[in-house]
Amino acid sequence: MILVDASSMVAEETLTAVGKNLAAVRAQIERAALAAGRNVNEIELVAVTKTVPLDRIAAAYQLGLRHFGENRVQEGMEKIAGSAALGLTGARWHLVGHLQTNKVKTAVAIFDIIHSIDSVHLAEAVSRRAVAAGRTVPVLLEVNVAGEASKFGFSPGELPAALEEISKMPALQLDGLMTVAPLARDPEEARPVFRRLRALRDELRQSYNLPYFRHLSMGMTDDYPVAIQEGATMVRLGRAIFGERG
Ligand SMILES: *Cc1c(COP(=O)(O)O)cnc(C)c1O
Repeated sequence: MILVDASSMVAEETLTAVGKNLAAVRAQIERAALAAGRNVNEIELVAVTKTVPLDRIAAAYQLGLRHFGENRVQEGMEKIAGSAALGLTGARWHLVGHLQTNKVKTAVAIFDIIHSIDSVHLAEAVSRRAVAAGRTVPVLLEVNVAGEASKFGFSPGELPAALEEISKMPALQLDGLMTVAPLARDPEEARPVFRRLRALRDELRQSYNLPYFRHLSMGMTDDYPVAIQEGATMVRLGRAIFGERG
């Protein structure tokens, strides 16, 4: 494989544009953490790169980002291969979108963590593939907190029974919960959703002995400061970093 120096393919203006966005995001994260009395180091910034071209991903990497998120397996495969060819080593790739069971094998082969476990059946498939691949896969359970018909995820009421089963599956590391808040004009509308996810995590952590079950993946471009105030440990940002999607 020919390794291309990442810096040589990033235009100055791309670096400047992404850098400016990222500086604003980092300042917002710090402000929200400070307001909530939280340590900013507890908050992982996942740059969601769906539809984002490789040169902008390389720019983000050059600016220090190491966590990248994709919502589709096929597109993720192209990005992960492309970024490896650019020599962007040490990046951690997060699958944040719905995973179909026929793509589990590929997903387990290329992603470092899966945020979107939305059924016991899917968890079983991931566990089986992870065993076959000889690895442990960190996973989050996706929760449809607001009960939207358009969204994937466990309902809060389904979680205890699901966790009971999933926690027995081999080769899965249960890292916590993930949610996508309903689309709203005012980010304050997402606050009760984030608060509920946190309460669910706390309850489940009390009831089950799961050593890694601490993460809350919540907060996107329109609502991440509120999510951080409510305890997010991973925020998934696309537009805030890369601008509007084309
Ligand atoms: C696209 C996407 C994001 C990022 O969305 P922005 O609003 O651009 O920050 C986060 N999470 C998931 C699951 C996504 O599909």
